[in-house]
Amino acid sequence: MTRRQCTGEYKIKPIKQKVRELLGFPYPARIPKGVFVEQWVGISTDEFHRAKDADVKYMRNRHPLLDMSWSRVDCVRYLTSLGLADTPKSSCLGCPFHGNAQWRHIRDNSPSEWADVVEFDAAIRQGNARANASGSRLLGEAFLHRSRVPLSQAPIDHVTAAERAALRISAGEADVLENGVEDGCSPWACRGDANALTQGDFGLAT
Ligand code: SF4
Repeated sequence: MTRRQCTGEYKIKPIKQKVRELLGFPYPARIPKGVFVEQWVGISTDEFHRAKDADVKYMRNRHPLLDMSWSRVDCVRYLTSLGLADTPKSSCLGCPFHGNAQWRHIRDNSPSEWADVVEFDAAIRQGNARANASGSRLLGEAFLHRSRVPLSQAPIDHVTAAERAALRISAGEADVLENGVEDGCSPWACRGDANALTQGDFGLAT
């Protein structure tokens, strides 16, 4: 696992930028005391430990699902009542925490998105261009799939016994390989933070 910039760079920064704009104090203007937005973050009771205060005074987090004591099951039940039972976990298309099932879903249901992630995977092989240019060169190569094989050839149809043995992983970890990390991802509760398979077992960069 390399340093992960996805949530900070692509979610939190743009959100703060937009919030400042909405408040009428674009960066680097000073935001007066007492001026803030209220931001609703959908964290359910199963993951209450992910609920956090905002790290700036001009944003205040509220957690309506916690206020209502709704669990993930309550959310699914509600979505089902609206005809939205197949709502997937939230995550980026090219998330390195996807399991094989999620990669297959993209490949089999959305060829254009699959082409996009395959291209993205190839593009990150040498790491972050800006970091490389500034002297923080990536040692080795980066891959989206945990097998460290280009996504277009990665063993996403099943976790092979050889792969399991090579990685020396347990059955529980094999489940993560198949199904990805359990959590969805939001700017304020990144799925990567709770992942069990991040200890340098796999090569990736986002
Ligand atoms: S879904 Fe994955 S790629 Fe997207 S921000 Fe979360 S951890 Fe990063």
